[in-house]
Amino acid sequence: MANPMQVNRKSLLSLAKDVISYQTDRDNEGALAQYLADRLRSNGLQVHDEDVVAGRPNVIVRVPGRDSSQLPLVINAHMDGAYHLGGWSRDPLEGWIEGDKLFGAAASDMKGGLASMVAAIESAAKDKSLPRDIILHAVMHHDTVGLGAKYVLASEGPFEGFGICGEPTNMGVVYTHGGAVKFKITVTGKASHISRIEDGVDALSAAVAIYSKIPQIKLTHKNHEVLTDLPRVLVGVLNGGIAAGCIAPEASMLGDVRTLPDMTRETVYDDLKKLVDEFAVDGCTYKIKLTAVQKSFVGKKESTLMTALSNSYKKVRGSEIEVITKMPTQAFVTDTADMSAIGLEALVFGPGDWKYLPDEFISIKDMGDAAQIYLNTAYELPLR
Ligand SMILES: [Zn+2]
Repeated sequence: MANPMQVNRKSLLSLAKDVISYQTDRDNEGALAQYLADRLRSNGLQVHDEDVVAGRPNVIVRVPGRDSSQLPLVINAHMDGAYHLGGWSRDPLEGWIEGDKLFGAAASDMKGGLASMVAAIESAAKDKSLPRDIILHAVMHHDTVGLGAKYVLASEGPFEGFGICGEPTNMGVVYTHGGAVKFKITVTGKASHISRIEDGVDALSAAVAIYSKIPQIKLTHKNHEVLTDLPRVLVGVLNGGIAAGCIAPEASMLGDVRTLPDMTRETVYDDLKKLVDEFAVDGCTYKIKLTAVQKSFVGKKESTLMTALSNSYKKVRGSEIEVITKMPTQAFVTDTADMSAIGLEALVFGPGDWKYLPDEFISIKDMGDAAQIYLNTAYELPLR
C-alpha cells in the first residue's frame, strides 16, 4: 500500500485560526463558506458551493482518487457554530495559542474539526496514490435541523460508501447516539392590573407549574442497550409577563428532549400533552409546538469503516482508538444520522472535547492527527 500524503500541520493551524475568525453563530456562516470556497478553488480544487438558502451555501469538494469506482469516503463538518457568549478572557474571534491549545469561538464545535477536514481534502488533492474519492461536505445550518447535510445528501449523495462526521468526540469514536425533539409550550391567561388581581388568569404561575413537573415527565420509550442515559429532558428558557404590576397574560418555555431510537415526534408530543393536561389550570389555554426533530443514529460497533478508522488511528497515534458510548456523546445530534439513513456506513470521530463554556479550545496536535486519520482512512478501507 502506498503511503498517504502527510498533512501540512502548520497550514492547518493558520487555517483553523482563519475559520475561528468568522462569526457563524446565527444563520450567518455564508462568509465563512465563501472564504473556504475561495481558498479551495485557489488551491486548484473543484468546488461546488450553490446556495441552499440565499447567501448560505454548502461547500462540497470531491477529490477523485485513482479509482473512482471504489466506494467514496465522505468527511462531514458543519460551518455554523455557536459559542458561549461572555466571560472570555480574550476576543473569541481572534484565536490564540497557549501550548498545544488553540482557543477561540466554536473551536471545538466544530471549527477545529472543520479545519482538519479541509486540510485533509487539500492533502488528498495533492496525493497521487489516493485509492478512492474523498468528498468534503462542509455544510451550512447544522443547528438545529441539519439542513445543509440533508440537502447535499438528498440532492447528490453519495448513496453508498462511507461517512465520517467530525463532531467533537475528543478523538474517540461514536457509533450510536440519540436524537432530539425541541419543543415550545405557550400558556395564555388573562392580563389584569394589580388593583384587580381577581379578574386575571396568571399564565406565568401556570407555566411555572408545568416547568416544575417537566423533569418527572414520563417519556414513552423502550430502553436501549447502548444509550443507557437516555432519554433526558430539559427546559432551558422560561419567559413570561409584561409588567411588574400586571398579571402575566402569556408565558412560554423552550425545551429539549434527547430521544431514543423508538421515540418519535408523535410519542414526545403525546407525552408532553399528557403532562400539560394533568397540570393545566382553569382559565389558561396551552399550546405545544415541536420546533425541531432530529433522528437518532444507530450504527454498528463492528464494521468495515470502524476497522479502517481504528487502523488509521493506530498508525497515526500509536494506540487503540477509544469507542465511546457514554455521555456527553449519547446526547449529541450529528449529521451521521442523515448519512446513515441515506445508505452510508457512518461514524462520528473528531478532535475537541466540547464544553459550552468561555475560553473554548481545541488541541492543536489532535487537529493535525484527526486530519491525517481522515486521509489515511481512505487508504485503510478495503478495495472492492
Ligand atoms: Zn456540532
